[in-house]
Amino acid sequence: MGSTLILWSHQLHPQYVAEARINPKQDDIVLVDSTDQWTYYHFHKQRIVLHLSAMHHYVASLKQAGWRAKVIQAPTFLQAVQSIPNRIMFEPTNHYEQAWVEALKPLTLLKDPIFLIDTQTWPTLLPKHKPWKLDPLYRQFRQQFHILMDQDQPIGGQYSFDSDNRKPPTDDLTFIQPLWFTPDTITRQQIQDVLLRFPTHPGTLDTFAYPVTREQALESLSHFLTFRLPTFGDHQDAMLSDQPWMSHSLISSSLNLGLLSPLEVIQSAEKQYQLGQAPLAATEGFIRQILGWREYVRGVYLVFGPSYLSVNHFQHERPLPDFYYSGDTAMQCLNTTIHETIHHAYNHHIQRLMVLSNYANLAEVKPQDLNRWFNEMYIDSAEWVVAANVLGMGLHADGGKMATKPYIASGAYIHKMSNYCDQCAYQVTLKTGDKACPFNALYWHYIASKKTLLKNNPRMGMMIRVWEKMDPEDQQALLKQARKHLS
Ligand code: SF4
Repeated sequence: MGSTLILWSHQLHPQYVAEARINPKQDDIVLVDSTDQWTYYHFHKQRIVLHLSAMHHYVASLKQAGWRAKVIQAPTFLQAVQSIPNRIMFEPTNHYEQAWVEALKPLTLLKDPIFLIDTQTWPTLLPKHKPWKLDPLYRQFRQQFHILMDQDQPIGGQYSFDSDNRKPPTDDLTFIQPLWFTPDTITRQQIQDVLLRFPTHPGTLDTFAYPVTREQALESLSHFLTFRLPTFGDHQDAMLSDQPWMSHSLISSSLNLGLLSPLEVIQSAEKQYQLGQAPLAATEGFIRQILGWREYVRGVYLVFGPSYLSVNHFQHERPLPDFYYSGDTAMQCLNTTIHETIHHAYNHHIQRLMVLSNYANLAEVKPQDLNRWFNEMYIDSAEWVVAANVLGMGLHADGGKMATKPYIASGAYIHKMSNYCDQCAYQVTLKTGDKACPFNALYWHYIASKKTLLKNNPRMGMMIRVWEKMDPEDQQALLKQARKHLS
């Protein structure tokens, strides 16, 4: 009797089938459309369409290549696969999927071949008793995979060009649009099915145009590297209300599905630099997101284990405001950003960090609420990606285990890096009064209420001292303004 390779919807890279060492003459390949996968979080409709469409396209391509392959539909993942004999699976990263795999034992469980750093290596890279830092790991990975290296030295004489990549926007900024894909018959069918099966899930579907096959993902990558990588670096941290994509790559959904592997993306970007087609700072910044940050957040999630999902260093307990699902707020930065989330299931990283997470952190939102929202709302979400991005970097809810300071800012930062404030009902320069930007008083309320917890953090000391030297009347006015907004 043959074996059956069971693939998750995020294991669509051909390397999985190759590494499984199965035989099309005697073995089968199964992908699973189980309701519990699409409702574990209340996922955005576009994310569900992406996974279903990509799975159905992949099965069609496997059949064309001579494999016996199919999609099984069932209420739960376990119901779909528990009667299949001789199961072969690749280890998933998400803890809840690992628990489902445990319930299916005995089975043949293989190491994931796509990630650059394997699961077993992470505990030695992130020892529990020491502070964790990305920079030394990133340098180590650059050397290990020989990326942007000249023998044993980094090309350009330094490993990071981050400081070159933080320019604010200018009035004349324009960007080449990303490559989009008109939904074909398979995708249109999935759009219809998702509307019927998951009508209460957030988000709209009329703009769905993400890559759903490996060919489309490779085309999208090539388009980015040729036309958009050269301008990726300079304004990486800028935000513009009519430019949801700017020069961001939009390949994260393809990477997280396995339509692309991290190494092929990194090596393709490096080649573009070597051909003189992209500046070093832009190429390095792009590569760092994948070789450094993406691997690091997976390591943090794996080493910390499921308890990471409950961290709440500041004991924040306020519920996530309803406007995170509607965009219905007079704060223009949040209004614009959330409407983009609803219509595209996407925001770029500075919107995620310095608008959505920043506001939730300043407004003392319960970390688990924001973590849930990020899992639900993004086309590229996966629990292992979201956890450290939101709980660690976005909210500092792990007490600084994986990021050295809370990423908080007043309205001045958003004003400097975006054009949102120009169209806002609030005035960014005001700190108190009905027209004052809420981020300003919330920022000082945060510093005042956390100063004991943050006083030993060298990167927060200056702002704590500024607060302590402030006129007591000004302090009281700011605290009153913040409390009024919070209530
Ligand atoms: Fe956001 Fe404040 Fe600017 Fe309005 S004024 S867009 S609330 S930062």
